Amino acid sequence: MAGRYAPSPTSDLHLGNLRTALLAWVFARRSGLRLLVRIEDLDQQRVGAARGVAQRQLDDLAAIGLDWSPPVVRQSDRLGLYASVIAGLDTYECFCTRREVAEAAQAPQASRPDAVTLPEGAYPGTCAHLSGAERARRRRERPGALRVRADAATVTVHDRFAGEVTGIVDDFVVARGDGTPAYNLATVVDDGVQGVTQVVRGDDLLGSSPRQAWLATQLGHPVPDYVHVGLAVNARGVRLAKRDGAVSLADLAALGHDAGEVRGWLLASLGLDPWLGNDELLRLPDEAFARANEQWVVDADEWVTP
Ligand code: GLU
Repeated sequence: MAGRYAPSPTSDLHLGNLRTALLAWVFARRSGLRLLVRIEDLDQQRVGAARGVAQRQLDDLAAIGLDWSPPVVRQSDRLGLYASVIAGLDTYECFCTRREVAEAAQAPQASRPDAVTLPEGAYPGTCAHLSGAERARRRRERPGALRVRADAATVTVHDRFAGEVTGIVDDFVVARGDGTPAYNLATVVDDGVQGVTQVVRGDDLLGSSPRQAWLATQLGHPVPDYVHVGLAVNARGVRLAKRDGAVSLADLAALGHDAGEVRGWLLASLGLDPWLGNDELLRLPDEAFARANEQWVVDADEWVTP
């Protein structure tokens, strides 16, 4: 039984990522669980362009006072595991481009033979029933992604803050056209294999939870408890990113703000005393973390001294 923090090593952790990591530590430890750290580095194009980031991310987590149970798992080491899981699923090749999916999703009922109403943006099953000849023809144009047949299952998950979240599961991608396992697949396989029973992450992924819970069940894994926490946003209300200025520990250190001070900001953003140590965080009542699902508006210009 464990909680986990699962960063993608495409750029240094920014304040929002660090806050989510701190909350993953808090909720795991307060639930008596180990915290695991998993490096989600399957997107080799984006990861390869940013060498050394994964190690810096680990260093930054330690610098704000977090610890975790080894080993740190890297998804790029587990391709064989994902391939064997994908091979055991009921999948079909999909040749749709992003644009075709977006267009088809606007008229879902038109292309679903079984007339199931899927939510907006869901894949309507365009390639679900291609003939063998048609598949062979399309394969010559571009390699197909693999989608799992989910039969529009209705799944309800429980989130600590959002409560019951129900979704209709579309036939989502489990392997991309270049063979890379998709995020939803790899994450669910790893959570299952690693014994993860609590998933703490940004609330931009809340909508993926019914899909992931469905897949976990298909694979015989328990559905974890979900804790989706608030994202950090910039002054314009847009999700915080590197381009918003000094938002990583390295940037902030260059401006004279050390990791201890940054940890204090993270705690203050949750309405907590910035000086609290790890042991004290574990002793607080549950209500002390009631604001963990609120957005944190970060104005990076504030601490850039001219
Ligand atoms: N690797 C994902 C990210 O950095 C998080 C995935 C998850 O927590 O399920 O956004």
